[in-house]
Amino acid sequence: MKLSTQILVAFTLIILLSVADSYTNYMMSKKVQLNSHFLARSEEIIRTSNKTHKAIIEMQSAFRGYLLTDDHIFLDAYFKGLKIVPVLFTEQKIRIGNDNSQRKILDSIETFHAIWLKYSKDLIQARKEGPDSFDIFFENSMKKHVGKKINDDITKKFTRFDRIEYKRRRHHSEELLTSLRHTRTFSLIFLTLTIIVGVSSTFYIMQITTKRISSMVILAENISKGKFTSITDTRNDELTALASSLNSMSEKLDKNIHELKIRNAELNKFAYVVSHDLKAPIRGIHNVITWIEEDLDGELSAELKRYLAIIPQKTRRMEALINGLLDYARLNIKVPPENINTNNLVHEIADSIVPRNFKLEISNLPELFTERIKLEQVFANLISNAVKYTHREDAVIEINCRKYSDFYEFSVKDNGIGIAIEYHQKIFEIFQTLREQNEQESTGVGLAIVKKIIDDQQEHIIVISKVGLGSEFIFTWRNS
Ligand code: ADP
Repeated sequence: MKLSTQILVAFTLIILLSVADSYTNYMMSKKVQLNSHFLARSEEIIRTSNKTHKAIIEMQSAFRGYLLTDDHIFLDAYFKGLKIVPVLFTEQKIRIGNDNSQRKILDSIETFHAIWLKYSKDLIQARKEGPDSFDIFFENSMKKHVGKKINDDITKKFTRFDRIEYKRRRHHSEELLTSLRHTRTFSLIFLTLTIIVGVSSTFYIMQITTKRISSMVILAENISKGKFTSITDTRNDELTALASSLNSMSEKLDKNIHELKIRNAELNKFAYVVSHDLKAPIRGIHNVITWIEEDLDGELSAELKRYLAIIPQKTRRMEALINGLLDYARLNIKVPPENINTNNLVHEIADSIVPRNFKLEISNLPELFTERIKLEQVFANLISNAVKYTHREDAVIEINCRKYSDFYEFSVKDNGIGIAIEYHQKIFEIFQTLREQNEQESTGVGLAIVKKIIDDQQEHIIVISKVGLGSEFIFTWRNS
């Protein structure tokens, strides 16, 4: 499966689990809200029921008090109840709404109350009319416990009404607690699953990418160091494509470098053979001139002699150029590295090249494990240039070294004629000389050799110089 698809699957799973978690919590909050709403409504219903029952009982007490005492003051509470009770019934009906069973009980309470009202109204009327009519009622109704029965029925109905309401409240409370418990469990499960999926997919993706990316980094480092290795990646995703691109790049580079080495060797061989073969005809020309001068000395005009004298100059320069080319071509020879005391090496070179009138300052140089001939050649060429291009009484040559974590930085500095900035690159090309063409000593090969050695070692060289202010050649070198 593609890496991007795997990441997408993991994220989708995490998102789905989070959505499920949020949905559960949302549903729970809705349930809590509904239950809380129900409980609040139920509390109101019970309160109204109690209020109604209380008002009815107060009416009954007032009614009884009046009958016993014939004192009208008792009827105040009765009349008050007459006003309040119907209002309370209406309120209760609105609260109950579509609840048919409670509505039925409430309707029967209302009916009983209406019957009692009629009964009480007649008795009050009889009481007002005098003892005769009251006695008739007393005998017909009160003694037969008509009022008491109605009151008992009302009380029973209220008790039933309240019991049902309490039962429902209990049921809703339990339901609320259960749903809370369930939601907590589900929420915990979803959260745990989200964490498990999140952490494990992160680890999995890290595991399948980090290891492979680091092996690709190692491959890239190897390629940059000239080691054209390859990596094996059997998965079938984007990183596999990258790995195979790196592998084919490494393979191609290996092939090209190999071909380049062959071409280079051929070219060097060609340069060597050509320059070597060129030496013989030059020597021949030189000999012919010598013979002409020796054998025909008397017959040569002064002008011809002058012209003939130029030829050896030119052939010598040509020979110097060919020798330079030969040196350059010979550079390919590889010798095994050895332990070298750079201090001794540089002192030996300087002793043979630097004239006595030069002031030579050599700092403490390190021990190296490297190819002696190459390092020797670099120092020899740089020091001999410093000598060649410093024409002053107070000539100074300084050779220093700085140590870095895994390489050394050497510098050869003089206070000679310096080099104009526009030639800082050109001087490293073969046969590029800033001196007169006919100057015997100047062939433009020395720095080309230095550059070739430095490049072959994958080191770096720069020149810091200004005309008239001396030159400093800085190059890096590391142990083989
Ligand atoms: P050559 O010295 O034979 O001309 P090089 O390749 O050694 O050849 O140097 C190329 C050119 O770089 C020289 O001709 C010279 O002009 C310039 N050069 C090299 N080293 C120095 C130096 N230390 N000071 C000034 N010029 C230099």
